[in-house]
Amino acid sequence: MNADLHCHSTVSDGTLDPEAVAARASANGVELWALTDHDEIDGQQRALAAARTLGLPYLTGTEISVTFAGTTVHIVGLGFDPADERLVRGLAATRGGREARAREMADALAKVGIADAFEGALRFVGNPELISRTHFARFLVDSGACADTQEVFRRFLVEGRPGFVPHRWATLRDAVTWISDAGGVAVVAHPARYKFTATEEYALFTEFKTLGGRGVEVVTGAHSAADARRYADTAREFDLLASRGSDFHSPEESRIDIGTLPPLPEGLEPVWKALEPRIHAPG
Ligand code: AMP
Ligand code: MN
Ligand code: MN
Ligand code: MN
Repeated sequence: MNADLHCHSTVSDGTLDPEAVAARASANGVELWALTDHDEIDGQQRALAAARTLGLPYLTGTEISVTFAGTTVHIVGLGFDPADERLVRGLAATRGGREARAREMADALAKVGIADAFEGALRFVGNPELISRTHFARFLVDSGACADTQEVFRRFLVEGRPGFVPHRWATLRDAVTWISDAGGVAVVAHPARYKFTATEEYALFTEFKTLGGRGVEVVTGAHSAADARRYADTAREFDLLASRGSDFHSPEESRIDIGTLPPLPEGLEPVWKALEPRIHAPG
């Protein structure tokens, strides 16, 4: 099953609008799709309508920013009711700090000689409530400060580098509860990307399970084959459903295109099996 359950549109920090992401997913052979914009579900109706037109089965999705043990962790939510009021309010609150954070990021960049970064980043923003580091990265590339976004995330905007502003996102408890209470499944996104010690990672998965979290991304754009094997073991150890998603953002920037990931390792329970009743079948 070519399921791709993690990607972004202009509603957060992708460069294609929801309809264009849907068309690309369909053209690349995706058989089950979820659009998972950061801290936002405003694109869900458009994504679902586009998927219907293309004959593409669809699951609702989002990717919630969480602060856990002083680190930002992303929790993907799948198959929830997008009208659920606590989820809608929770996501709005999570988005709330982004503009003030972005102004602080611009002030920090100004101190190292990069002027007007707030206005610069805004030119790349599709959703004014969702200014993110990705938009600053596009500005830094566009202005010639860096050759590509990878260079940006080595030299700027990350801990210890100019333009990084520490931020408190949602709690793990809130994110998992909002998703689960709205009828969805919470999934730990791209676990290999976090710089946790073994003890911290164990604490993350233990707490996640206790709170009602049910899945982990095993195959995702940021994971090597070895990472996939490692988190397949984690899925077995913690009895978690396995998810698969490219984390596609842009044809120009993303290393892995939507719908082109390797399959899940054998012997795992795919998250889409548990979500069957939540899938919007076309037609
Ligand atoms: P924010 O939510 O504003 O902190 O922005 C986080 C986003 O920045 C992620 O979702 C990615 O799209 C992007 N990002 C973070 N680190 C990197 C990286 N090393 N390379 C490319 N993009 C990154
Ligand atoms: Mn992103
Ligand atoms: Mn993420
Ligand atoms: Mn993502």
